Amino acid sequence: MTRHVLIDQMTWTDYDERVRTENPLVILPVGSLEQHGPHTPLGTDTIIPTAISTAAAERVGAMVAPPIAYGYKSQARTGGGNHFAGTTSLDGETLIHMTRDIIKEFARHGVRNMVVMDSHYENEMFLIEGIDLALRELRADGNEDMKIVKIRYFEFTSDETMGIVFPNGFPGWPLEHAGVMTTSVMLHLHPELVQMDRVPDHPPVQYPPYDVFPADPATGSPSGVLASARGASAEKGKRLFDEYVAGISKALSVEFKLGARTPEARASTGTVRQ
Ligand code: MN
Repeated sequence: MTRHVLIDQMTWTDYDERVRTENPLVILPVGSLEQHGPHTPLGTDTIIPTAISTAAAERVGAMVAPPIAYGYKSQARTGGGNHFAGTTSLDGETLIHMTRDIIKEFARHGVRNMVVMDSHYENEMFLIEGIDLALRELRADGNEDMKIVKIRYFEFTSDETMGIVFPNGFPGWPLEHAGVMTTSVMLHLHPELVQMDRVPDHPPVQYPPYDVFPADPATGSPSGVLASARGASAEKGKRLFDEYVAGISKALSVEFKLGARTPEARASTGTVRQ
């Protein structure tokens, strides 16, 4: 039997055997199809968590489900807004129910340990609601054993790495949209998909401390970038990616009592930023 990490590349019989014999951890990446400036692709929020999930799964012996590749509506102050061409979003109710349904299906197979690996700022409470509804319905059906960890991978950035990646000051995660962090990680993972000559070079976009509906695109970022990615590099991307994979692998090993499969995973003790 070939040992795969990606569930959609397994046969149902191999998958079934692993679920029944290994009590495996299943990681569900969640992203978006959303503009990420003129320089990084629409799938950035899905490509990055899927790559992190796959690398972490290889370390700890987990499996990775196909990602939810669409997210909740992009908001002006965290993603540039939902008016851009290409940005393709779900109603909150749809995302809640997709999350709930996928968790309940894995539970039906016998999976009892799951991770929801979120990458898109606007998804968070809808994922939490989907997780909560799934657990409530599973409990009502007599399944008390499902445990789920929800991760936003960027929260695993250490203070030391923050200083290296953002030497001129950190704009904050909400404004880090198509900025230095995501662009650097994409340069590390897929340099062929990044066009650094198109990076907008402007100060962080200024928003008032409130939201206006309907949103007025004229008050936001015309490029879709909220803080310039001019300082991005593949070297920074490798540092960030490796730190995320190591920190998340360690956290999963602790939460799910998994045996880390590599010395690096066992040795990693990266500081977790809260
Ligand atoms: Mn996003």
